[in-house]
Amino acid sequence: LIATHNQHKAVEIRAILVMPGLELVTMDSYPGVPEVVEDGDTFEANARKKAVTLALATGLWTLADDSGLMVDALGGAPGVWSARYAGEPVDYAANNRKLLAALSNASDRRARFQCTMALSHPDGRAQVVDGRCEGRIIHECHGAGGFGYDPLFVPDGHDVTFAEMESGLKNRISHRSRALAAAARKWARIFAGDEAAVQGW
Ligand code: IMP
Repeated sequence: LIATHNQHKAVEIRAILVMPGLELVTMDSYPGVPEVVEDGDTFEANARKKAVTLALATGLWTLADDSGLMVDALGGAPGVWSARYAGEPVDYAANNRKLLAALSNASDRRARFQCTMALSHPDGRAQVVDGRCEGRIIHECHGAGGFGYDPLFVPDGHDVTFAEMESGLKNRISHRSRALAAAARKWARIFAGDEAAVQGW
């Protein structure tokens, strides 16, 4: 089970986890399962909570992720609060304005996106992997693609924001694709249904 209602994430995950014998389903197949509240202090806590809760509710192996932006000059904020940095309901433009205001006097603009993925056995025992994308926050929004903080984030080795990039390029270098690649490597035998790997989980 891919523990997301976000179709962009589901498409990205399906593109990478292509293995014979592996069938992926999303939350759309489980309309009765309640939303999991992401109230942890870390990406790992939130990813684990989502994966474990939904694995126990459905009886399926469950993959869940949590992600966000960490800015050095802000001590790692907005971090796990990235989605609701400027309050509820989630407002990407307001989040970007708040981030620019918080960094108005900052010369250190280093930041990174992090994505943590948790995979839970149907019995609720989970493991995690991480992916990161390093970069910096620029002084005004550039570009209309992507979502969230993309218009303010320039990844290392590039001179345009995530929002200005062709989505295929963002998806090759993003924190989420790196976490997924790590997941595919670390859990290849589980995804392939290898009985010995399942026993050793
Ligand atoms: P979640 O993992 O869907 O809960 O994402 C949390 C928040 O982190 C999002 O609402 C965005 O604000 C931010 N975020 C995560 N990944 C990205 C990204 O790839 N680009 C821009 N913002 C992101």
